[in-house]
Amino acid sequence: MITPDQTVRTTCPYCGVGCQMNLHIKDNFIYRVSAPFDAAPNYGMLCVKGRFGTDYVRHPGRVKTPLIRVNREDRTAPPVWREATWEEALELVASEFVRIRNTYGGDAIAAYASAKATNEDNYLYQKLIRALIGTNNVDHCARLCHAGSVTGLQLSIGSSAMSNSIAEMENLDVFIVTGSNTTETHPVIANFLKRAVRKNGAKLIVIDPRHIEMTDFSTLWLRQNPGTDVAVFQAMAHVIVKEGLYDPDFIAGRTEGFEDYIESLEELTPEWAETVSGVPAEKIREAARIYASAKKAAIYWGMGISQSTHGTDNTLSLVNLALMCGHVGKAGTGLNPLRGQNNVQGCSDSGGLPGVFTAYQRVDDPDIRARFESVWGGVPLNATPGLTATEMVDMAEIGKVRGMFVLGENPMMSEPNQNHARHALSHLEFMVCQDIFINETGEMADVILPATSFAEKDGTFTNTDRRVQRCRAAVPPVGDSRPDWEIFCDLGRRIETRLGVRAGFEFSDPAEIWEEMRRVTPDFWGITYDRLEREGGVHWPCPSFDHPGTPYLFAEEFPRGRGKFWEVTFGTNSEQPDAEYPFNLTTGRVLYHWSGSTMTGRSALEEIFPEAVCEICPEDAEKVGVASGEWVQVSSRRGAIKLRALVTGRSPKGTVFVPFHFAEAAANALTLDRIDKRAKIPDYKNTAIKIEKTTAPEGIEAGYEMPLFDRGAIKDPVQVH
Ligand code: SF4
Repeated sequence: MITPDQTVRTTCPYCGVGCQMNLHIKDNFIYRVSAPFDAAPNYGMLCVKGRFGTDYVRHPGRVKTPLIRVNREDRTAPPVWREATWEEALELVASEFVRIRNTYGGDAIAAYASAKATNEDNYLYQKLIRALIGTNNVDHCARLCHAGSVTGLQLSIGSSAMSNSIAEMENLDVFIVTGSNTTETHPVIANFLKRAVRKNGAKLIVIDPRHIEMTDFSTLWLRQNPGTDVAVFQAMAHVIVKEGLYDPDFIAGRTEGFEDYIESLEELTPEWAETVSGVPAEKIREAARIYASAKKAAIYWGMGISQSTHGTDNTLSLVNLALMCGHVGKAGTGLNPLRGQNNVQGCSDSGGLPGVFTAYQRVDDPDIRARFESVWGGVPLNATPGLTATEMVDMAEIGKVRGMFVLGENPMMSEPNQNHARHALSHLEFMVCQDIFINETGEMADVILPATSFAEKDGTFTNTDRRVQRCRAAVPPVGDSRPDWEIFCDLGRRIETRLGVRAGFEFSDPAEIWEEMRRVTPDFWGITYDRLEREGGVHWPCPSFDHPGTPYLFAEEFPRGRGKFWEVTFGTNSEQPDAEYPFNLTTGRVLYHWSGSTMTGRSALEEIFPEAVCEICPEDAEKVGVASGEWVQVSSRRGAIKLRALVTGRSPKGTVFVPFHFAEAAANALTLDRIDKRAKIPDYKNTAIKIEKTTAPEGIEAGYEMPLFDRGAIKDPVQVH
């Protein structure tokens, strides 16, 4: 039995559930992870990533010292690095960014913020970019995950955060899960949802083309054809109107546009939706009746709804359903986009978006700008919203973006159409990546700045239900790595000196940064580090010290006043299968990995799930002539990858699933850079592909047995300790 030197309470570095965990430390090594029974939001539960996926912290591949590329003339060549001092590396970064700013203007620099970094890191980062570089070109991976949700929610109710808390889930009456493989993407939330069914007798309606595990707990499973979500949701609305199941008081008191909206539903019958979606009309009627007749009903969704050329329309259709039934603004109801990364909510809240400062305060509002200018040393701020992540890549290709700062992100893996992204980034004059490992994007950088991992720094993360929680240092930094906020202070002061301004980068710890952030953000005003120590976490908005925080939103009104019904027309701009590319590809996550597997791929989890698989249904597998474990080449009009097949009924006929975690079989080599026009989010769920049986790639040992298994068999992947 090992006696720990110390046990440190912190927040899981993986998904947006924000599980609280205890890191057990011996000789500066995390030898065990446990979960406290008495702490929200997970109350003793952790999934396999939180429990066994933190050993990447001491992986030998961690970047331990700043690195400068020797072969800077060719960004696409394998990098040759030389070690540098912090002084040398930061002087180079400061001088290059100031050169580009002074030569082409601040808008020639673009910055990826990080959903893995703390709120304090991201606040300081966007302050550096806005106040010193002079641009609002800052965005992050929320653009690629939930921009469809954010845009739809902003248009209809004026707020894009999850409206209700995780704690309410166990007591749900009725809930819809759509476009979310919750068991694998948010395992602990899935457990609470399953408890609602098992213990509370809640009715679950799953609307999803894949036979995900949540379907086993459902009262009703609507298996729509990929890309036909709007038709199903609108037909449900049609039924609710025709059968008078809507809530007239809520509609009259809290919404606008209902009369016009219901006219647009006239032709959208369940029979019409059946012809489009393949879902039997009677099932659509039943789903509509169950949802509308409930006293309380909630909707949970994931990237299956948002990552589409019609992601905004999908979201608007869901909001229409909630508004007409009055299923929002009360406990156990709500509109809940399940956010992916551990601090994707916090990164957005901290100003990591091109049009807003902290907590969605608009950059084009002169009063708000004046407040930030007064706290940021009087430096005049740019009033024009900046580029989105997808636009940054396009602008790099045509020379409008010349410099790029990538904080803890990997656009080479996360952007669609990987060849296009590589080509675009190769045009940059200067790129710096700040990270804990050198990932596929880092291999193209001029400078690597080594940051600390979650276990080596202090700060706060905000989980998917807006709960601000502490992240605490448990082990010393690896090598010469430094916390992100400390690097920004150092870099900020160097740029300030060159520009002759003082915006304020003199912080001695993250608590001081939070204090500045709190002062400029009314929604965070009542949250202090002392309070987080006492209470464990607080849900924003929290406008005063005696305010309890807000577990569910919109009790009185919506941020835009009245909730607005939007007419939505069914149609698609997605790439459709054809004679040459007859299958549809959908991409997503698996339980054992996260994002580009930069962290999970360097942990014990890699042994359990070491390579990509192409999930294909038995009929399609027979057509292609492959069995589980055999190699296939999957090609689109953009590229091709080789991986093994996994024959499983989880995939619907005509659609295959490929996880996006693996660089050697990168799903985004296949996807296309066609975007939702309003949200600017790419379509990762619909790509026309062809599949051919092939041989193993060179270097794969003959006889190597991949530990293939049908993840449909996984039950309750959450452990309680
Ligand atoms: Fe971490 Fe798993 Fe909890 Fe998500 S569900 S926060 S990955 S332990």
